[in-house]
Amino acid sequence: AAPPVERTVDSVCPFCGVGCQITYQVGGERIVGVQGRNGPANQARLCVKGRFGLDYIHHPDRLMLPLIRKPGAPKQVPPAGADWRAVFREATWDEALALATGPLRALRAAHGPKALAGFGSAKGSNEEAYLFQKLVRTGFGSNNVDHCTRLCHASSVAALLEGLGSGAVSNPVRDVEHAEFILVIGANPTANHPVAATWMKNAVQRGARLVLADPRATDMRQHAWRTLQFKPDADVALLNALLHTVIEEGLTDAAFIRDRTLQYEALRQHVQAYSPEAMAPLCGIAASTLREVARAYATSPAAMIFWGMGVSQHVHGTDNVRCLIALATITGQIGKPGSGLHPLRGQNNVQGASDAGLIPMMFPDYQRVDNPQARAWFEQFWGTALDERPGYTVVEILNLALADDAHPHKVRGMYIMGENPAMSDPDLHHTRHALAHLEHLVVQDIFLTETAWLADVVLPASAWPEKTGTASNTDRTVQMGRRALAPPGQARPDLWIIQQMAAGMGLRWHYPGAEAGVAAVYEEMRQAMHRSIGGITWQRLERDSSVTYPCLSADDPGQPVVFTERFPTPTGRATLVPAGIVWANERPDADYPLVLITGRQLEHWHTGSMTRRAAVLDALEPIATACMNAREMARCGVQPGALVQVRSRRGAVQLHLRLDEGTPDGAVFMPFAYAEAAANLLTNAVLDPFGKIPEFKYCAVAVQAL
Ligand code: SF4
Repeated sequence: AAPPVERTVDSVCPFCGVGCQITYQVGGERIVGVQGRNGPANQARLCVKGRFGLDYIHHPDRLMLPLIRKPGAPKQVPPAGADWRAVFREATWDEALALATGPLRALRAAHGPKALAGFGSAKGSNEEAYLFQKLVRTGFGSNNVDHCTRLCHASSVAALLEGLGSGAVSNPVRDVEHAEFILVIGANPTANHPVAATWMKNAVQRGARLVLADPRATDMRQHAWRTLQFKPDADVALLNALLHTVIEEGLTDAAFIRDRTLQYEALRQHVQAYSPEAMAPLCGIAASTLREVARAYATSPAAMIFWGMGVSQHVHGTDNVRCLIALATITGQIGKPGSGLHPLRGQNNVQGASDAGLIPMMFPDYQRVDNPQARAWFEQFWGTALDERPGYTVVEILNLALADDAHPHKVRGMYIMGENPAMSDPDLHHTRHALAHLEHLVVQDIFLTETAWLADVVLPASAWPEKTGTASNTDRTVQMGRRALAPPGQARPDLWIIQQMAAGMGLRWHYPGAEAGVAAVYEEMRQAMHRSIGGITWQRLERDSSVTYPCLSADDPGQPVVFTERFPTPTGRATLVPAGIVWANERPDADYPLVLITGRQLEHWHTGSMTRRAAVLDALEPIATACMNAREMARCGVQPGALVQVRSRRGAVQLHLRLDEGTPDGAVFMPFAYAEAAANLLTNAVLDPFGKIPEFKYCAVAVQAL
């Protein structure tokens, strides 16, 4: 039986970007229960992950001492159940930190700052993200710092910054309370943002019309007014057909276009070639349905658009979002309650980590590193010279790890905190080879992840309930997470570890106060980000638990809906950018006749390192499965439940088949959480040229019975 509850601690859920507020129930130094709290995003609602998924922190696999690779131990990801003692030995913190930073210093001295890179985490706090990027920029000496935003919404942010001057959402999820029309495209909120999905369903109950647009038909279709199950890869064709209809049928908001946009005429001329009748065969949706949806969106009193990885993870991900921006702005469906654009953020703090500068081309608050004024401000603020060139992105950094020795920007040493690229990156054989090829790799995590198995030094870190810090959810709301428990064994708070790494790299930082000076770090970050969170003090967060930015002064209540008067661009106007059709990089053929779509499922979170160690979640979804519909199974000669091989040009995995009539003809769907059948062994590492995001949502595979 669970110990009785001895105390409660208020915090935030560590999983998805919805940012539900929770209360830990603690007994016997364990979390014995979790309850929903009355936060702005959840109003006490929780999904199965937040309610039952936190026991991963007590799993016996937790790292409790620093580990050092034994001389000659092969660098490879072993099968499940491998004994770490064959590869690593335990060490003291002093020894581990010396062995972590000494080789990084030596590589920097021998090859220059570009020889080093760092991946931070969207699962950590804002303070950790801020300090990590500061360490890379001021200690490593380059802007080679990135994190998993590169794998989820980098293309969305590229288009939003280009078009609207801000990469964040315009309205919070709960603004669907005011919407009469909701378009959800390339997203499966029931599985991936479950509490957000409940607000959408409530809006439908109230009378709002929900349109789902996705190659997969998801459970939300029970609530939809129309379901557009378009052909994979036909997003731009579909969206341009909607734009064509709005313009051709005179449904635009002429005053909004005149006063608040640029380049409308170029867009108008461009979409003339994309009539619904011409696009219908490409997207597999009847022209009449495309016109009906376009009319309903444009004429609705208030309309919201939500999107997810189905939009962003394509070589044309940025183009997809350019179309969505155009749709919202030429109809005036933005800048008022119930009308706006909302890219649903994946991880609990991917918004905050990006805001805090954990990206290679921007300092905190999206100040470009190649802007001389911005760079001068940060040089003065941090007291050191900074690199004027943007750094490399996640996939580029690992490609550079395999570059020729003569390459001036070859990456030789890395520090990875709380990310698992050996599961999350595309084309894993290549990724793992690159990680293993590094001359020095330091990994900081709570488990011996697939990435940590490839490290030279492993530093045991803290889980979210074991530390205090802030996180920013998909709604731009900064929220306070509070420590409920001490980390196990010799595991340490990430903020403390980053500071020890900084000291080892020669930096002289001093953040006084409890829990590695978290309040002092936050206050420094607040100064660096005064344009967005200047009015959100640590004391205010301690008192109120959450405040939405932009919030510029102590009496500013925060701004849930933005762009009401102008866009944060130099002209105050939105820029419309026409998008042509760019097909997927790798199309099906005779050898690989199916399209692989990767994604997530309700019970398992991203690479599975946490949720597959949560007892209830693992019991609900214990094995890897691939989904196909009955017609496609018959064509491939396979049965539901059969063990099959799924193979692409880059790799092959074995797993069982699951019947799913929502998966379209010609396609197979796989979650990427299962190490024993890692979907990313199959995916294609080709990048969107603007956001540098890989094409996770489309590659060619074959399915064969075993
Ligand atoms: Fe946690 Fe997201 Fe579920 Fe809320 S919806 S409980 S934030 S996983």
